[in-house]
Amino acid sequence: MTTPRLLIVGPQGSGKGTQGVRIAESLGIPVISTGDVFRANVKEGTDLGKQVQAIIEAGNLVPDELTSAIVRDRLAQDDAAGGFLLDGYPRNLGQVADLDAFLSGRGEELTGVIQLDVPRDESISRLTLRAAEQGRTDDTEDVIAHRLSIYERETAPILDVYRDRGIVDTIDGVGTLDEITERIRAALAARDLVGA
Ligand code: AMP
Repeated sequence: MTTPRLLIVGPQGSGKGTQGVRIAESLGIPVISTGDVFRANVKEGTDLGKQVQAIIEAGNLVPDELTSAIVRDRLAQDDAAGGFLLDGYPRNLGQVADLDAFLSGRGEELTGVIQLDVPRDESISRLTLRAAEQGRTDDTEDVIAHRLSIYERETAPILDVYRDRGIVDTIDGVGTLDEITERIRAALAARDLVGA
């Protein structure tokens, strides 16, 4: 079996957080979600939280240096030695370069990239519904559209880099949770990234 050093990528509303947790749990590897790290820090009112709160609320990206430093620290912890699943990082080409430099320094590389493919309209309706259900009044239509356009402009190009390396599996992200998890598992199995 190849060590699962994975990245899950998809627009907001694609279900990547939920699917990432399911896949990581089944493989026994930690999920490293930069969005979760930032949100927890905002909630606790830490210095980092204060630094990033306005950026996150506006739907913009936190500077690469800060984000990459957080991920490096987290990847250096023992539980990531046998594999990990990154959710939401790297998110632009600069972060791809940062991650490559860090991993290659350890003689490692990403071994699989899961792209969750969800049409723009579907993402928008899921995010609008979630904002209404959770009373997230900051998640306005404008902010949602802004986040999606950043995804298309900044994040989608990282997939070309990983596609050139032959490590991307594009998964149809429309269906039930179980159906989608099964599609991902099948793709990972075909790459020898999951046990029997
Ligand atoms: P997410 O939950 O992954 O959508 O992340 C929530 C927010 O955290 C994003 O809208 C960004 O403001 C910030 N964020 C998360 N990951 C990154 C990253 N890799 N680079 C820059 N900003 C990030």
